[in-house]
Amino acid sequence: MKTLTEPFKIKMVEPLKVTTEEYRKSALKKANYNPFLLISDDVFIDLLTDSGTGAMSEQQWSAMIQGDESYAGARSWLRLEKVVRDLTGMPFILPTHQGRAAERILYSILGGKGKTFISNTHFDTTRANIEFTSAEAVDLVCKEATDNQSDYPFKGNMDIERFQQEISKRGKENIAAVIMTVTNNSSGGQPVSLENLKKVKQICVENNLLFVLDGCRIAENSYFIRHKEKGYEDKSYKQIAQEIFALSDAFVMSAKKDGLVNMGGLLTLRNEDLALQCKNLLIISEGFTTYGGLSGRDMEALAVGLQEVFEDDYLHYRIRSTAYLGEHLKAMGIPVVWPIGGHAVYVDAKKLYDHIPVEQYPGQALVCDLYIKGGLRTVEIGSVMFGKYDQEGKLIPAEKELVRLAIPRRVYTQSHIDYVIEVFEDILTDKKQAKGYKITYEPPFLRHFTAHFSPL
Ligand SMILES: *Cc1c(COP(=O)(O)O)cnc(C)c1O
Repeated sequence: MKTLTEPFKIKMVEPLKVTTEEYRKSALKKANYNPFLLISDDVFIDLLTDSGTGAMSEQQWSAMIQGDESYAGARSWLRLEKVVRDLTGMPFILPTHQGRAAERILYSILGGKGKTFISNTHFDTTRANIEFTSAEAVDLVCKEATDNQSDYPFKGNMDIERFQQEISKRGKENIAAVIMTVTNNSSGGQPVSLENLKKVKQICVENNLLFVLDGCRIAENSYFIRHKEKGYEDKSYKQIAQEIFALSDAFVMSAKKDGLVNMGGLLTLRNEDLALQCKNLLIISEGFTTYGGLSGRDMEALAVGLQEVFEDDYLHYRIRSTAYLGEHLKAMGIPVVWPIGGHAVYVDAKKLYDHIPVEQYPGQALVCDLYIKGGLRTVEIGSVMFGKYDQEGKLIPAEKELVRLAIPRRVYTQSHIDYVIEVFEDILTDKKQAKGYKITYEPPFLRHFTAHFSPL
């Protein structure tokens, strides 16, 4: 069959507001040209993030009715804990209200001045939580990742050679943890191979380093391993995920991704001492150990979501529908990060808007144009998000200027995606008219969320 049919039908609808280009121009101006500051009713197709934006199944909604809202030892917690223990094999499981809460707890214990964290690529909240403790976060993604065109299937991998060099350079006693992000969100949503994860693990064992899995898209990563790495064709997605968990000493998860819920997070550990320290911080800042920041019904929905996400039909539809958008954009001549990752399509804005210098944020320009032309909300992953300033206040740009089109899970149909493709046809036609932006206000951390811009 040529059509990629959604393996579900629609039981409840959420109307979308149709707006005009004039309306959107004024809405974007009011939002200071930062789509994070738009109200969502003014967005037609929201591709800002796949985080917490998915649709839950009827099984999840019905499980929510059974939520046990007891403060301690809730039945819903026991249900969730059982599912997570079966999946991860880890003895200590802590619920948190989202991924960054798990990160803050773990990294504020492990971090501090003089410490280094090494990762295939730190996600932005990961880096911020690490740097907030005055520790350093080093990204060592493989060389293949810099080539946006090649077919290399595992561009999320760690560069093993540089990883070993970094350990000798910094001294293993100064390395707080090694964080493997699967799939590699900030590096194009690209998967990591099991071969690479095993090599990283071996080096961690040799140097006595803690191996942390940032696994919020572990089901999507397992899909790529089964279909692109030799030796895993006959394994189930869950079995592949379990092989990855078996390599890990700790696991942080934003359940808003492959947990298939709108809010939630997890922190799981093997080491009892570390787990005790984390529990103390959890109680101070998130809540008691049997609910973290979650209500009983949230935990019920997550317990179901963590099982649904590994289903064959779901994962096939999920990965193929993201690829559908990416493959069409590529065929039209839009430069995209290739191959297409699991949760998003990344457009190379530096290449598409090659007349806009990086100091004028070509990614932000594309984000604004996509909103004005089609009511699409997307996000810049480039120098707005990762740029720094040198001593003279000159921008040190990010390596890439990308725009991410993240696909919410089970939300949009193929006709919505065909509309997105048509908006890009317009972008191509008018690309020479595109103009850059300057920043008029920025906060000290995670500036992309709240910065203000003005067009040049
Ligand atoms: C989303 C995400 C996080 C942070 O999780 P939140 O639930 O948004 O706090 C951490 N790491 C990765 C790789 C992510 O994609």
